[in-house]
Amino acid sequence: MNRDNSPWRGVTPAALHWSESRSPLSDTFDDIYYSQDNGVEESRHVYLHGNGLPQRWQRHSRNHFCIGETGFGTGLNFLVTWQAWRESPEPRPDLHYLSIEKHPLTRQDLARALNGWPALAPLAQTLLAAYPALLAGQHRVLLDDGRVRLDLWWEDAATALPDLASRAQPLVDAWYLDGFSPSCNPSMWTTQLFQAAATLCQPGASFGTFTAAGDVRRKLTDAGFTVDKVAGYGRKRDCLRGVIDVKAALPSDTKRSPWDIPDKTLVRPKHVIVLGGGLAGCATAAALARRGMSVTLLERSTLAGAGSGNDQGVLYTRLSRKHSALADFALQSFQFASTFYRRMFLMGELIPQRDGDLCGSFQQSDDAKEMAALRDALTGLEELAQILDATEASGLLGIDQPSAGYWYPGSGWLRPGAVCRSLLMHDNIEVMENCGEVTLHREGGQWLALAKGQTLASASCAVVAAGTETTSMPQLNWLPLQIIRGQITQLPTARAFSTLRAALCHQGYIAPAWEGTHSIGATFNIGDDDPALRTSDHSDNLAKLADAVPSCRDELQSFDTGALKGRVGFRCASPDYLPTVGPAPDADQFLNDFGALRKNAKHLIERRGSYLPGLYLNAAHGSRGLTSTPIAAELLASMICQEPLPFSRTLSRALSPARFIIRDLSRNRI
Ligand code: SAM
Repeated sequence: MNRDNSPWRGVTPAALHWSESRSPLSDTFDDIYYSQDNGVEESRHVYLHGNGLPQRWQRHSRNHFCIGETGFGTGLNFLVTWQAWRESPEPRPDLHYLSIEKHPLTRQDLARALNGWPALAPLAQTLLAAYPALLAGQHRVLLDDGRVRLDLWWEDAATALPDLASRAQPLVDAWYLDGFSPSCNPSMWTTQLFQAAATLCQPGASFGTFTAAGDVRRKLTDAGFTVDKVAGYGRKRDCLRGVIDVKAALPSDTKRSPWDIPDKTLVRPKHVIVLGGGLAGCATAAALARRGMSVTLLERSTLAGAGSGNDQGVLYTRLSRKHSALADFALQSFQFASTFYRRMFLMGELIPQRDGDLCGSFQQSDDAKEMAALRDALTGLEELAQILDATEASGLLGIDQPSAGYWYPGSGWLRPGAVCRSLLMHDNIEVMENCGEVTLHREGGQWLALAKGQTLASASCAVVAAGTETTSMPQLNWLPLQIIRGQITQLPTARAFSTLRAALCHQGYIAPAWEGTHSIGATFNIGDDDPALRTSDHSDNLAKLADAVPSCRDELQSFDTGALKGRVGFRCASPDYLPTVGPAPDADQFLNDFGALRKNAKHLIERRGSYLPGLYLNAAHGSRGLTSTPIAAELLASMICQEPLPFSRTLSRALSPARFIIRDLSRNRI
């Protein structure tokens, strides 16, 4: 699962042809995706009923029910399950559907395949609208107001399942073992894969599969499942179903010390305190509220008043030639954010033009080598990114472009304040502004939020999303977060930019006009905490824009920089420019437990991490908060609720606040 430094590329889509009855057949595996008799009925018989669904939902004790699937294929099993879930009476658990697929269908093939099922058409349309690009990695799709969470891992099950299982956390209530017949595709029916599936089982978890092959039966039994052979569907005489009995142990991970896995699991909280009313805090509050928890959000001053306070922000991402945690996070978070905001516009939670516009953005590039290397890799990923020459870019942007670069059709600009306020529109969220400096104290198993000598709120769980203020908490003062001053300039729309139709990113950025003004920016000064506007910074912003759009230089030079308006904001960033999202470590205990890394950074320490009970962090989003906070909030909410995480273990470790301690120990710096 660790792809670091391998060349960046998308996944290879499914190679298909279509039968006379218009159902898909795999060229790669030479097999059918579902029964030629009736795929929907087969899915109900083998997977839904094979796992005792929908009846089990009525007596399920936890807040969510998790289905794991090997092979998403056409999504038919998912749609049949989602339909059954929708038809089940309340109270029913949320549906978490985690599916792993090595060769996803293209959106066009998916549409064609699902076209054959008119009764599923409305659900199929919704799925198609949210279907992620064929980008290797993990993609979370929120449906039905987030009560249905579809995790699509565009990965090989042989690596994805062991990665999931390596957290040793029981997650799955029911398995759908699909994946073509064992004779056509033995890779989906291995001992290692079943061991991982067994490790992931909640007590009483079940499985269903269309095959009744003797080899599969034996391997499932060896992994700890009871296995029953029952009547198959259509032309298939038998199929298998069963439940987990005794789990076979997964071979231990000999490469990674499990410092990222908390040594204690906590009960799901009913109430959570969130500190900070910027994008990170508001997105976290919304993700928790969607899961039925009550949230008290405490803001020192006013909502979106600090780092999230600019008039306009651009939904930003960055392509790279090689995979790395930073590159993968940049794309996966962007993909999620783009769909997330598109839904908010569609639902009327954000109003086009008033609150932003997903009009696309163009990133200039002068790295011809990189563009040449990525051109092939982007084939089939046009909805994510395209390489444009200067003429094409000029056409899309509506202003003259001297440079080639990357076009991101799902990007655009947003008003961070509007996003924050909209995210908090939920009955489960209580907002308290102007609290002053809030500190957290632990007492009697609760976090008390104290300010001005008063207890404002108490809860067993608290999330610190306080941007640059995060390190003022005594529990978190060791974090190596840095302040980066950024000044934007509010440029009255001039003749040259009145035609700008999309956001333009260069050394800085400019967004299409909002209320007669473009936000342009921003300066970047590490460690500078001067809040005063500087004329010299306005000049810098204008000069960078003039370099990016030379045809507008004269007009830009005609502005009186002393008279321009702007805003100074302070970004909070980490030294590796990845955000800091996850449980707050007990720093002293970490130094103690993992001290042996000082002598040997590769030393495998088979000890889990010690964390401050119920305290989490969501910070250091730098200047990319619009892009990174929606998925970061999902990551935290999933951790707090013990759901599958929206990221691989490799990526969630890369975001974990404890990484700084482990890194410093490994370099013998602390
Ligand atoms: N469940 C699907 C549906 O509802 O349409 C049908 C699944 S189809 C029979 C099997 C799927 O497994 C294919 O989409 C195939 O690409 C996928 N697959 C095969 N080998 C795989 C592997 N090693 N890892 C992940 N997916 C794999």
